[in-house]
Amino acid sequence: MSFRLYNTLSGQVEDLRPLSPPEVRMYACGPTVYARAHIGNFRTFVANDVLRRALSYGGYRVRGVMNLTDVDDRIIKLAAEAGQEIGPFTSAHIAAFREDMKALRLEPPEVVPKATEHIPEMVELIQKLIERGHTYVADGSVYFRIGSFPAYGRLARLDVSGMKAGARVDTDKYEKEDARDFVLWKLKADEPAWAQWDAPFGKGRPGWHIECSAMGMKYLGETFDVHCGGVDLIFPHHENEIAQSECGTGHPFVRHWMHVEHLLVNEETMSKSKGNFFTLPDLVEAGHAPEAVRYLLAQAHYRKQLNFSFEGLDQAKAALERIHGVVRRLGEVDAAGSAAAPVLEAGERAEAAFAAALRDDLNTPEAIAAVHGLVTEANQLLAAGAVNAGGAGALRERFERMDRVFAVLLPAGEDRLEPELQALFDGRQEARRARDFRRADELRGELERRGIVLEDTPRGTRWRRR
Ligand code: AMP
Ligand code: ZN
Repeated sequence: MSFRLYNTLSGQVEDLRPLSPPEVRMYACGPTVYARAHIGNFRTFVANDVLRRALSYGGYRVRGVMNLTDVDDRIIKLAAEAGQEIGPFTSAHIAAFREDMKALRLEPPEVVPKATEHIPEMVELIQKLIERGHTYVADGSVYFRIGSFPAYGRLARLDVSGMKAGARVDTDKYEKEDARDFVLWKLKADEPAWAQWDAPFGKGRPGWHIECSAMGMKYLGETFDVHCGGVDLIFPHHENEIAQSECGTGHPFVRHWMHVEHLLVNEETMSKSKGNFFTLPDLVEAGHAPEAVRYLLAQAHYRKQLNFSFEGLDQAKAALERIHGVVRRLGEVDAAGSAAAPVLEAGERAEAAFAAALRDDLNTPEAIAAVHGLVTEANQLLAAGAVNAGGAGALRERFERMDRVFAVLLPAGEDRLEPELQALFDGRQEARRARDFRRADELRGELERRGIVLEDTPRGTRWRRR
């Protein structure tokens, strides 16, 4: 079954066609680690996480990369002011980022590379660009000549001279041939020695764009499936990534570009520079649970702007309480018996709608509506006394499966299986439903080897850690 996703490159919702299914190779631009990330940044990261979870829920195997930008003007300036080198300065911000990721239930991507640990890969790519005639040196820096790449501007749909207002551009002033040309390598002799690396074209440091090309291609191949980021990265960052990657390799860089709309505050983009931001600890301090923050960010469609408000956060909390309440009540049912048809059908219908919504351009508002639909039905069935232990187990299992994507649907304090184990668990349940007991036993054995023991009870299959 196809998974459809809007592709910024074509401007259309398209089937995702991974190069080597069932694997999907995806890259997400990560944070610049000079300060605590705000929840605007996390809107993008949560949407990236929902995509990867929805893909694994849909049967794909995701290989994800998210970089840490740990060298740029601000980092060098702030580290120098703090009397530190890059490593010690950024490590505290990286630790804080990982803490927030964990609290927001972001699955760690398979690879989380640091820019400073991939300088040789960047140098090699720049070297290729030099050999192929795509660069020039001006003002002591190596520039990419945009005029040498006719497809420049396709992603952002720029006209030749177009510059989108408000987009992030090079802040440094140089003698460029063309205003749009961008720095590949900065030869800044006046920067601290710990922020300079050797290269055949001179000691210096990389520009921002080259890092994502070098790390993306190193871990995912010269052409990979999905590249994500916030909408502000379309131009110039991603446009530049395409130009330098495709000129360096001669191959298409990325098949599917996924961009997340911004989180706003009072109709203005949440940003560090505007000062209108909240960090996760700010919100926790004010008494809000990270779960509610995740719910608020995840339930909005990634292609629509979302206005942050405390009212919205309270509504998220109330919605979660409603879901958790029914899951808890299902756990309390003890009338023996196997699930009745209307109960099974309600669960099946809800999950089918849930899965279809996600496959349709990651329609999380509809997916979460399916969750709430099941809450309503389950409450009605419970009130009518129509749910016995078997039915409760079957319904609970639906919530567990849908939780693989949202990761906040089960009441607090519940242990969750790691996504990979949950997939094995779901596979076994499916095999049992299909009466393929050999396969079901195989999967039970696999789970046991990984320390998960299953027990089939009247209330459904339970698991525990050995
Ligand atoms: P940065 O740390 O500035 O490189 O940004 C990290 C990620 O956050 C990028 O993908 C940005 O596009 C994204 N981002 C920044 N501000 C917002 C916002 N207000 N809403 C959603 N995403 C954002
Ligand atoms: Zn990037």
